Amino acid sequence: MSITDIDQKYVAGTYKRFPVEIISGKGSVVKDTNGKEYIDLGSGIAVTSFGIADEQWQEAVKDQIEKVQHTSNLYYTEPCVKLAQMLCERTGMKKVFFSNSGAEANECAIKVARKYSAEKKGPDCFTIVTLRNSFHGRTLTTLAATGQDHFHELFQPLTPGFEHVDANDIEQLKKLAETTQIAGIMIECVQGEGGVNTLEKEYLEALSQFVKENDIPLIIDEVQTGNGRTGELYAYMNFALEPDIVSTAKGLAGGLPMGATLMNEKMQDILGAGDHGSTFGGNPVCAAAAISIISRIDRELLDQVKAKSAFIFQSFEGAPGIESVSGLGLMIGIKTEKPAGEVVAACMEKGVLCLTAKDKVRLLPALNIPMVVLEKAVEVIKEAAVS
Ligand SMILES: *Cc1c(COP(=O)(O)O)cnc(C)c1O
Repeated sequence: MSITDIDQKYVAGTYKRFPVEIISGKGSVVKDTNGKEYIDLGSGIAVTSFGIADEQWQEAVKDQIEKVQHTSNLYYTEPCVKLAQMLCERTGMKKVFFSNSGAEANECAIKVARKYSAEKKGPDCFTIVTLRNSFHGRTLTTLAATGQDHFHELFQPLTPGFEHVDANDIEQLKKLAETTQIAGIMIECVQGEGGVNTLEKEYLEALSQFVKENDIPLIIDEVQTGNGRTGELYAYMNFALEPDIVSTAKGLAGGLPMGATLMNEKMQDILGAGDHGSTFGGNPVCAAAAISIISRIDRELLDQVKAKSAFIFQSFEGAPGIESVSGLGLMIGIKTEKPAGEVVAACMEKGVLCLTAKDKVRLLPALNIPMVVLEKAVEVIKEAAVS
């Protein structure tokens, strides 16, 4: 039986896979079983921050695997402690909780906001507000947070206590606050799965002021936007926001499962012993991998991300077959005249792997994709958008 057949027989059918089996790669180029090479503009959905089989990342992982692979959180291990310190020093946040995925990082963020608000404002203050078109994960609670109804169908009842308002409309939020006690507001600065939509600067400023005036914890979901993706270490830094809680995952450990929830001064001591936990959280191999990633996301790399982003925008804006380009840094959405799925299929045929988000072609290349490789891929997409 072929891998495709075995997959079909034994793996739950939750993914609509492309007919490609990837077996190796280097940097931004991957190879399938037929020896065909592809330029990878998806990075495993913003995960392989420095590409496939990155040597520094491999060294960090191998080094830790040879020492100890897991201890449980009953004992100290250096990588997770050093990583927490690094994340706090780079963001000004004060404490970190480690988990294994984006959904879990958000679950922790929600628990922190709820506990803070319950203690401060009473047990009726539990509602978490998120935006329509958002994506926050697949667990029943993060699904409730996700502001897209089609994800909710047939999984009812979801965790109660979530409300959704339109993005970029501060009045809707203020109106909701007149009738509902709000325990936290969670946003993505760039809505990824929702179609790569960057929130408006004025809205974010108004939101920032509103949460401060009302002592409402502001949670920024940086699962996809984080770890250098938008040209800053975290996307909120593009907007001078001061989040109370930041969740991240995807690119954090460059291809190993790791989530992190960062808490500021006000939130740092909300969770006490026994309030939360995770068997694998802060796993030393994942943490060592994350240290190798975060320590290399410096100003120089971030400026390169911005330069490559500008190149992508310039290449596509006004080009034949292209309606619009959205996004920030190396998180790009391209609205094509042809259906996005057709463009992605044509690109794959020509050796370029792209993603979709809603009706857009979505690009999430490795942060260090070489300019020549990016140029080649852009030409292929431009061609696929017209032919
Ligand atoms: C991918 C994603 C999640 C969920 O992350 P998982 O690791 O799949 O649980 C949550 N929020 C955002 C913004 C994401 O892009």
